[in-house]
Amino acid sequence: MTRLRPAGQLSRQLRTFSSSSRLTAAANVQRLGVVGAGQMGLGIALVAAQKAQVPVTLVDNSEASLKKGIAFAEKLLAKDVSKSRITQEQADQARALLTPETSLEKLSDVDFVIEAVPEIAHLKFDIFSKLAQICPKHAILATNTSSISITRIAAATTKDPTDTSASSRVVSTHFMNPVPVQKGVEIISGLQTSQDTLDKAVEFCKAMGKIPSVSADSPGFLANRILMPYINEAVICLETGVGDRDSIDAIMKNGTNVPMGPLQLADFIGLDTCLAIMKVLHGETGDSKYRPSVLLGKMVDAGWLGKKSGKGFYDY
Ligand code: NAD
Repeated sequence: MTRLRPAGQLSRQLRTFSSSSRLTAAANVQRLGVVGAGQMGLGIALVAAQKAQVPVTLVDNSEASLKKGIAFAEKLLAKDVSKSRITQEQADQARALLTPETSLEKLSDVDFVIEAVPEIAHLKFDIFSKLAQICPKHAILATNTSSISITRIAAATTKDPTDTSASSRVVSTHFMNPVPVQKGVEIISGLQTSQDTLDKAVEFCKAMGKIPSVSADSPGFLANRILMPYINEAVICLETGVGDRDSIDAIMKNGTNVPMGPLQLADFIGLDTCLAIMKVLHGETGDSKYRPSVLLGKMVDAGWLGKKSGKGFYDY
């Protein structure tokens, strides 16, 4: 049976919804596209449906990922209802706003698209060159990349660098994991990004209930420039025997008041993602302080990617 929220909470939520609608309108978003229905893309699509209340076309080239993603969204909505955070009607409305698709061609009517495919540069370049062709000429083309240069992604939209009609609409909306929980989002401009694009990205992220931080297109941006060397150093402490897994996680968890230690956090982010970001930091700065841990590379080689593959520093 559906439990209703106390009246005060509901009216607060309605106020949030109406201010979200104003922000969604300010960003001029009638329909959102999300590419990639993995842990980030699914979270982005769900929060956009719930908070910004926009219809979302969710594209993934894998039927299995789409099915898994939609089932996970339904589970999260059911949990919100059971905890009286939302009503059953609100859960049904949010679910109805999500349309799963397997073809990028279905993004021909979106005003804003957010790409969240794996952190592989050539894959993102290929998708952005296609999005520039498929999406309407006013659409904002955003990436959730953790580390790849926004300027390079924007450059992939055109063969003529003097034609900035598409590249000026490319921006990064770098959401944090898990998207339904973390309030922060980094908004990053490439060299080509227009002020209008940046403003719309900020407005739309606010409509999604997020708190944007604007940062420069520099390797790792802000969040990963700080977070990933911390995780990498924890793995180096493990591989060189400075401490075992539990000691490393316990001291950081209990000593710095964070919800989980760096090794568990790495498992949640995905060890492949962590390694990819360290490689970008190391490769683009040439600074040895960003050298990826050998153990991290070996674990990725073994397919031990953390929570998503069932094994990482912990077993799942
Ligand atoms: P993921 O592996 O969970 O999901 C990626 C999804 O993209 C999969 O469902 C896959 O089927 C789909 N995909 C692959 N190729 C595709 C294609 N050509 N067209 C459409 N869909 C395709 O990855 P994730 O953890 O959600 O990460 C996605 C992006 O978000 C990466 O750029 C990552 O760096 C970034 N990011 C990740 C985190 C994190 O904590 N995991 C945090 C912030 C940003």
